[in-house]
Amino acid sequence: MLRIGFTGFALALIACGLASSAQAQTPPQPPYAVTKVDNTDNVYIFRYQGHQSMFVVTKDGVIATDPIGLRRPAAKAYIEEIRKITKAPIKYVIYSHSHYDHIAGGKPFKDLGATFIAHKNAKARILELKPADVVVPDEVVDKKKVIKLGGTTLELIYVGRNHSDSMLVMRLPKEKIIFTVDWIPLQAVQFRAMADTYIPDIEEGLKKVIAMDWDRIIPGHPGPAGRQIGTKDDARDQLAYLQDLSAAVKKAIGEGKSYADAEKEIKLPKYEKWSGYGPSLPMNIERYYDYWNRGI
Ligand SMILES: [Zn+2]
Repeated sequence: MLRIGFTGFALALIACGLASSAQAQTPPQPPYAVTKVDNTDNVYIFRYQGHQSMFVVTKDGVIATDPIGLRRPAAKAYIEEIRKITKAPIKYVIYSHSHYDHIAGGKPFKDLGATFIAHKNAKARILELKPADVVVPDEVVDKKKVIKLGGTTLELIYVGRNHSDSMLVMRLPKEKIIFTVDWIPLQAVQFRAMADTYIPDIEEGLKKVIAMDWDRIIPGHPGPAGRQIGTKDDARDQLAYLQDLSAAVKKAIGEGKSYADAEKEIKLPKYEKWSGYGPSLPMNIERYYDYWNRGI
């Protein structure tokens, strides 16, 4: 017992040593930061803790997106960072979709006179639930809207239901960049039990986005190792993940497996390094279980 205890203690010491040397090499991340997107004149990412949004600076004004300010002063920092780059007015704030962790906290932008835009289903949800600290959109998008400002064109495109029924794909055609949030994560499984997600629409939406003309994707959260920008391969990988998950769950149901057995036995080793694989895979399985078992 003493011997085992000592070994465990020694391993703990080694683990501590490794952890502290890793920390010494990687300084803690500041709570927020702005990154200019390479090979663009005017496209930026504002990150606050684990959320991020895109903004575009033109001579005639700024197009901002999600304020990412749920219960935190992110919009104040966001505006201060924009002001370090330009004094041009902030003309627009565009919501990616209706979820509060991305769209709350926009009042400081409203106070500066920005016009808020969202998909029409996002506005309907906001008016229904009246969340505190979410600015109601001034304008809505149905299928598509194009914003032109100071030489920049930004398309706001609705490809149908996916991670919500109000998701926009914002596409910069000249830069071949899209900004869309939560449903095309970088090397991550879907969030928890995929609440508010429509199956199989999400897979159809992924096919539509993959068929569009773009090279880089800015998602709503950085991926592993802080990666802030993805490629079309990330979208293809997410579609493959959902298809593999769907097929595995359908097979388990065909074999008469229970929820518990399906969640315990289904493994998708291709994706085991992805963020959320451990905690969220069983919940992702449950979402597809309900779809195949009950048509929910
Ligand atoms: Zn969301």
